[in-house]
Amino acid sequence: MAERDSAPAGDDGPGSGTAPLVAILTGAGVSTDSGIPDYRGPQGVWRRDPEAEKLVTYECYMADPDIRRRSWAMRGESPVWQARPNAAHEAIARLEGSGTPVRVITQNVDGLHQAAGVPGRKVLELHGNARSVVCTACGARSTMESALARVGAGEADPACLECGGVLKSATVMFGQALDADVLGSAVAVARACDVFLAVGTSLQVQPAASLAGLAAESGARLVVVNAEPTPYDALADEVVREPISEALPALLAALHS
Ligand SMILES: [Zn+2]
Repeated sequence: MAERDSAPAGDDGPGSGTAPLVAILTGAGVSTDSGIPDYRGPQGVWRRDPEAEKLVTYECYMADPDIRRRSWAMRGESPVWQARPNAAHEAIARLEGSGTPVRVITQNVDGLHQAAGVPGRKVLELHGNARSVVCTACGARSTMESALARVGAGEADPACLECGGVLKSATVMFGQALDADVLGSAVAVARACDVFLAVGTSLQVQPAASLAGLAAESGARLVVVNAEPTPYDALADEVVREPISEALPALLAALHS
């Protein structure tokens, strides 16, 4: 059981333990200003297109080489590779840089929190990271950049160089379980934090959404920043509807140590 005055999973140097722990759950809405559409949310690109959904459904991906070839082609064209952190990512990185204990729990796979400067050990990626590739047979990890170079050179469905197994992006596909360690750390953060901000997430995908409820139950101040209503608005201490990249910098500036 996490102590309320401790900051799980990451060191915050001398003085930590007194400053309030800020947990920030981020969803697709945080990255739309960086040019990345909502893919996996309830109204996301994949859920609205059954053919596209197959490309990111584990069972289909493993069973069908053609699905894999199309999936690799889609990865090559992803807007993630050109995307840069926006004002919301930068505001979160500034808060962390100010010495305030911060943990980011993200549903995004774009790596933009780390690109903005948040140390990787303070970012819990519930759905993995699209910038890495993992072998489904031996677990070897490599970079997406190197895999896409192989695709560009003519390997439409590149196999693991270690064992010949099927490679996939290191993201959680539909039909795959979340990483138990990452989820466990996220639960510990939700229980221990003093402030929990849910930003740019519809709070409709479990178990990520329930983290907001867990934080509120554990006594944290719950702030929801989202354009549309969420199931947790009634539980929130504050609900903000303004555009994220405008609202978040001001909200977080007030939390600087
Ligand atoms: Zn392998």
